[in-house]
Amino acid sequence: MASYHKGLFESPSVYDYYLLGVGDTMFDPVKRAMETARIVCRGDERRYSRFRPARFYGGIATADCVGCCLQCIFCWSYESVARPHQSGKFHSPREVARKLTGIASKKGFRQVRISGSEPTLAKEHLLQVLDLMPKELEFILETNGILIGYDDHYAEALARHENLYVRVSLKGTTAQEFSRLTGANPAGFTLQLQALENLMRAVVASHAAVMVSFSSVENIDALGKRLARIARELEEIEIEELVFFNPGVEKRLRKAGINYRTAYRPDSIPPEQI
Ligand code: SF4
Repeated sequence: MASYHKGLFESPSVYDYYLLGVGDTMFDPVKRAMETARIVCRGDERRYSRFRPARFYGGIATADCVGCCLQCIFCWSYESVARPHQSGKFHSPREVARKLTGIASKKGFRQVRISGSEPTLAKEHLLQVLDLMPKELEFILETNGILIGYDDHYAEALARHENLYVRVSLKGTTAQEFSRLTGANPAGFTLQLQALENLMRAVVASHAAVMVSFSSVENIDALGKRLARIARELEEIEIEELVFFNPGVEKRLRKAGINYRTAYRPDSIPPEQI
């Protein structure tokens, strides 16, 4: 069995402390990535909670992995993030590639993705899955970018895969918003931006999506300008807004005293966000 830092994930979780406002609970997201990787990776295997067809991107085969290095208050996969040692089962890269291509072939999809939590935690596993994917399928990597920003060589390794597209999901528009929403220290926001810079430098097709439900219009505009200074093409940001996929999210936001500007129910997501 994989060893892990029990204190980090024992109940009450970081979320619980965060909601109770107990002490300084901000964590280092890179350290958390390493700790979580020890739980969700075993050799070249990684934990996944499910494999499914999804309606996003016009239809996409999806593998939901387990474990993340952030603790977003609005996260719909709360269980797998807060308690990774209790979620999912281990799968080899070959099994993941086979399941994704099987769903894509059955449904006539042209795209596949790893979603649900943070795919980059298991670097070797992810690179092997990418190696095994047929070239005719586009692989969309949905990531918070923390490790791509931290590890100088990650973007270069991803650049070897031509059918890859990377969507970096920024958690807020400033370091302060990032920290308030994720529970991680504000420096994590710099790593998210660094990920985009590294991807641009390595010539990996990518863009930034931004959770804007908690941000002012001024801050959204300022972020667009900041991204444009990294690379002109990053100025076009994908708007990401709060969706109540998981009923626990509203409760957590209320307890934490965090107000949102926009939010949707799963059956009323704007078409441009599907
Ligand atoms: S980065 Fe994504 S998976 Fe991780 S906690 Fe935030 S919303 Fe959840």
